[in-house]
Amino acid sequence: MRPLLAPALVGLATAGLVWQGCGGSSSSRSGGGGGASPAPVPVAPGVSARDFLSDATYRHLLVEIDHVQGQAPSPAALQVLRTRLEERCNKPDGVTILVDDAIPPGSGVYSVAENRALEAQHRDHHASGTTVVLYMLYLDGRSDQDSGGARVLGWAHGPSSVGIFRESIVASANLVASSAEVEAAVLVHEAGHILGLVNNGTPMVTPHEDPDRRGHDVDERCIMHWRIETSEIRTLIQHLGSVPTQFDARCIEDLRASGGR
Ligand SMILES: [Zn+2]
Ligand SMILES: [Zn+2]
Repeated sequence: MRPLLAPALVGLATAGLVWQGCGGSSSSRSGGGGGASPAPVPVAPGVSARDFLSDATYRHLLVEIDHVQGQAPSPAALQVLRTRLEERCNKPDGVTILVDDAIPPGSGVYSVAENRALEAQHRDHHASGTTVVLYMLYLDGRSDQDSGGARVLGWAHGPSSVGIFRESIVASANLVASSAEVEAAVLVHEAGHILGLVNNGTPMVTPHEDPDRRGHDVDERCIMHWRIETSEIRTLIQHLGSVPTQFDARCIEDLRASGGR
């Protein structure tokens, strides 16, 4: 199924490419984008998927979350994230969510490089011993990939690194979906990229990658549909009547085949 991409929303293609350009193989994975090329970056999300999915090396998953002052995560959204990670990751010693530092506001418009620089400054935990770490940073303002009315809600920009644009999430909520529900969907979606979905670190068992939006699921009922991480999530909510928060059967099949549950 080809996404119904209105001309005014073409800029979103760039947003979808942010993390896909992270693999050093952007020429082969540049999808249906056009627009500006993402900055080249050292390592793609998904390359450490097995560390997160299997218990072979790491038995415990720690999620460290920092936020720019005033942009604290929603406890309800974090609970959804924790549930999904517990469901899919083989971690006998559990999943811990650590809401850590509140940091000073930054530039208000963030590139991937700026997101990374803040992470380098504030991240406290990295994989060690039997604990693997997912780091999420809630930013203020917006992404430099936003285009017109189209906003980026989150991105996965490294093997264990996620940025969340909470103000854009709040702006994407509506009467049907609260900001906490949209936030939960974005958190689970970006975690899915860290887990190698779709076809980006975790091989597909049954083909289901969107040919026009690489790294995403063709099925709009799946949390890995591309619209989830953009303000286009409102179109999905309109179609479906609610916000997806679950990986679909084909994503779960992929995760299980790569060490997950
Ligand atoms: Zn995505
Ligand atoms: Zn899926």
